[in-house]
Amino acid sequence: CGIFGTIGVAEAANFTALGLHALQHRGQEAGGIVAYSPDSGFNSVRRFGYVRDNFTSQKVMETLPGQLAIGHVRYSTSGNKGQTAIRDVQPFFGEFSMGGAAIAHNGNITNADELRRELIERGSIFQSSSDSECIIHLMARSLQKNIPERMKDALRRVEGAFSVVAMTRTKLIGVRDPLGVRPLVLGKIGDGWALASETCALDIIGADFVREIEPGEMVVITREGVESHRPFAQAKSRFCIFEHVYFSRPDSILGGTSVYETRRQIGVELARETPVDADIVCPVPDSGTPAAIGYSAESGIPFALGIVRNQYVGRTFIEPTEQIRNMGVRLKLNVNRALIKGKRVVLVDDSVVRGTTSRKIKEMILDAGATEVHFRIASPPTSWPCFYGVDTPERDKLLASSMSEDEMCEHLGVDSLRFISLDGLYRAVGEAKGRDPNTPQYCDACFSGDYPVRPADMVARGFEL
Ligand code: 5GP
Ligand code: SF4
Ligand code: MG
Repeated sequence: CGIFGTIGVAEAANFTALGLHALQHRGQEAGGIVAYSPDSGFNSVRRFGYVRDNFTSQKVMETLPGQLAIGHVRYSTSGNKGQTAIRDVQPFFGEFSMGGAAIAHNGNITNADELRRELIERGSIFQSSSDSECIIHLMARSLQKNIPERMKDALRRVEGAFSVVAMTRTKLIGVRDPLGVRPLVLGKIGDGWALASETCALDIIGADFVREIEPGEMVVITREGVESHRPFAQAKSRFCIFEHVYFSRPDSILGGTSVYETRRQIGVELARETPVDADIVCPVPDSGTPAAIGYSAESGIPFALGIVRNQYVGRTFIEPTEQIRNMGVRLKLNVNRALIKGKRVVLVDDSVVRGTTSRKIKEMILDAGATEVHFRIASPPTSWPCFYGVDTPERDKLLASSMSEDEMCEHLGVDSLRFISLDGLYRAVGEAKGRDPNTPQYCDACFSGDYPVRPADMVARGFEL
């Protein structure tokens, strides 16, 4: 999901809509905005579909006045999947004795089942199937006198991955979980401030990037400025390495480096680790493009746009059903025949999940007259599901969970298939010595099975670590 919030700007809801539009790649099912103004109180609009279709008309935006707003773009990783219930669309809102508060959450709460059961037994009435709603109910049960303190109480009970943006009548609040699994950044715009999942959402409103919110940090922002709190026990950070590979936008800055540059470097490492004789390097667009540029530069094999993407289709994997996903590849990608005919082609993609994309693309490339097809993948084999906010399928649907690299190669019917190593990936993201096996610098559970937070609900449901 993508989250955004802003305070101290004239049209906070419009800025929030723009910010969410820049974060649309993080969630395309639905979006919502809550705004506050002293005259009309809290107002909210929550809708299915794209930001540009729901939050651009004057008629809608007029209902969201004020200088303080937060918003969310959704991609379901818990609760009901897809566009099934508007009540699952964030931000969530709660009325407390000291006033209202709205929250928007990115990540996944790994003990949400447990918390929900306990809260319902004690009288909470849940409105949605979302894990994030627990936070509001935990806040309601807290005895603290103000909302930031109630949020601290609530979030100390929550396990898993959470970046949260929240608002009261006077404050904008941002929090990252102790491991900092999901991103959150702070920006400055005029006399106001903004919080966003990624820096690309600051760029679009002309805000200056100030800094990342630190793992385990809570910032409370008012007109007077930014206050930093440390509500949790100190822990070593475990940022999601897959944000570098795929999830974040290439024009965002993560950990001081442009995501584009990191991805290019992944391609360079990939070419060093898995060289091949071929005529052209083609990216699987758009997610494979920067790595393909790096692969081409390092290998000396010319780069070519052998596959063209229709810009009007969303990311395939965000479509939640298998059937739509299967059609998706053809709706979205087409082969540039004239370029491919008679060539030995290296195809670079960011990841292989179910293998659906790779198989379809191989067929299209061979159909177009390629003589050899070599897949090079910019992440290690995805053999484990993510429980922290990226929607990988169950283990048995992951190609790499039951097949070796050679078996996958045979299954996909390509001349060769190679993945970057986990150490190679760590080097590309700036860890010169690779992955520290004792205390890994990142979360890489979907590749290693090393889960930095025990996924309690999943274990209770029978998942074996
Ligand atoms: P596949 O077709 O192998 O199931 O999915 C691979 C494609 O989906 C890749 O091209 C990649 O861009 C995209 N993708 C990336 N990350 C994920 C993820 O976490 N889950 C899913 N389902 N697809 C992803
Ligand atoms: Fe990121 Fe993978 Fe960890 Fe999920 S399991 S947070 S996708 S590195
Ligand atoms: Mg892709």
